[in-house]
Amino acid sequence: MRTGIGYDIHRLVPGRMLILGGVKIDYHLGFLAHSDGDVVIHAIIDSLLGACCLGDIGEFFPDTDPAYKDSDSGKLLIQVINLISEKGFTIEHVDVIIHAERPKLSGHKLMIREKLAQLMKIGLDRINLKAKTNEGLDAVGEGHAIAAWVVATVAKN
Ligand code: MG
Repeated sequence: MRTGIGYDIHRLVPGRMLILGGVKIDYHLGFLAHSDGDVVIHAIIDSLLGACCLGDIGEFFPDTDPAYKDSDSGKLLIQVINLISEKGFTIEHVDVIIHAERPKLSGHKLMIREKLAQLMKIGLDRINLKAKTNEGLDAVGEGHAIAAWVVATVAKN
């Protein structure tokens, strides 16, 4: 068994879509990012790469590469899942925290878990999601950004 941690944060701006865990959330702000800015998937990718000792997301998908401009992060996650499974790893469990002051995410949590389970080809009982505010503190608490933390556990066959 091996464990990895992942973290990501992106700024919220007008005129962009808000996509969390591959699910489009109806909101008047979205992520300023080279890709679609999906902090949940970016943090999941880093946690999986960490658990498998394979580096970080920037080494695989550089934010200077035009190929990843506005890219669907779900497709990047599928590439990482394929890579780690080729190397003999299987996902035991993924635990996600989203830090968002707004919008309220309680009504979206199940849909995000279902989408992540589908992308990672794992059961719903292996993906947990917690949504928290930042109690009005710092940039996340003031609604200028959304962040995510992830801990992933994998097994090596
Ligand atoms: Mg990112």
